[in-house]
Amino acid sequence: MDSEYDLIVVGAGPTGMTSAMFAGRSNLKTLLIERMVPGGQIATTSTVENYPGFTDGIEGPDLSEAMLEHAKKWGAVTTFNEVTGIRVEGDYRVVETPDGDLRAKALIITSGADHRRLGVPGEMEFMGKGVSNCAVCDGAFFADSPVAVIGGGDGAIDEGLYLTRYASKVTVVHRRNELRASKILAERALANPVMDFAWNSVVQSINGDKVVESVTLKDTASGAISELPVEGVFIYVGLVPNTDYLKGMVDLDSGGHILVNPRMETKISGVFAAGDIRQKAARQLVSAAGDGATAAVSVRNYIKALAG
Ligand code: NAP
Repeated sequence: MDSEYDLIVVGAGPTGMTSAMFAGRSNLKTLLIERMVPGGQIATTSTVENYPGFTDGIEGPDLSEAMLEHAKKWGAVTTFNEVTGIRVEGDYRVVETPDGDLRAKALIITSGADHRRLGVPGEMEFMGKGVSNCAVCDGAFFADSPVAVIGGGDGAIDEGLYLTRYASKVTVVHRRNELRASKILAERALANPVMDFAWNSVVQSINGDKVVESVTLKDTASGAISELPVEGVFIYVGLVPNTDYLKGMVDLDSGGHILVNPRMETKISGVFAAGDIRQKAARQLVSAAGDGATAAVSVRNYIKALAG
């Protein structure tokens, strides 16, 4: 692997993979860096039903693999590493990793977002021992067992519906009495006989000895405390953008999302940000991919202007 590129894309989710594919097609020497598994959120999503062209849906991991192959087909080089910082060094935009620096004329930051933590006792202690953020990865371990899904958004309901394939009962624990999820998912969940709902409820603790045995719930209206026996707890209470390594280099909104203009430019010339890490109205797969294309087109124009 070389240490100098036209473009380095940080994060191989749908945004990053689309950026890399578009950049490759523009003959830009492109490196795509991923810290864990390519695919981002879709790598752990069951069926994607709203990506245009896939009328019957497509499995998240399959779409993810296809996107990666597409980027590679057009010349993008992929590598696994943790980006710990970025900096500007003259004409170069530098990406810092534990294995050394990598340089490029431009960077696209697409490191997405991670699951928000509930911050309750037992959450970290039982992670991997009943607590999970990935129904697709761990759902099969809970065959014929009761599980709880925490949250009321698309993430919670989508994954909760997936869990009904295995679990004896899926209780959605939601802090309000109305789901945030899209109407089609909400209707499907409400009609599913395996799904149950603990409305106006927040988790106070996740309990067990060696593995999860129950969650303690508090009714937000009455204050009543109750115990829900479950063997699995799947937490989907939103996402937190992965911007720690940017250390004040770019402007963030109050939720930690990077501020960019419509060309996906940050305040540092040559550094672009796209996808779930940026401030935006819709956080959907198709808009993530669209962002990736916009950023790559902007990089092409930026590099063309550099060359004069
Ligand atoms: P989200 O839409 O932000 O929903 C988060 C849910 O967690 C909300 O119901 C919220 O409650 C609840 N919540 C937040 N903090 C909480 C806390 N501390 N304790 C208890 N509950 C808490 O997040 P998401 O479901 O992870 O989805 C993220 C984005 O991806 C969304 O834009 C979503 O549309 C998209 N997505 C789409 C699909 C799909 O289209 N099939 C699938 C997955 C994700 P309130 O409602 O009271 O705020």
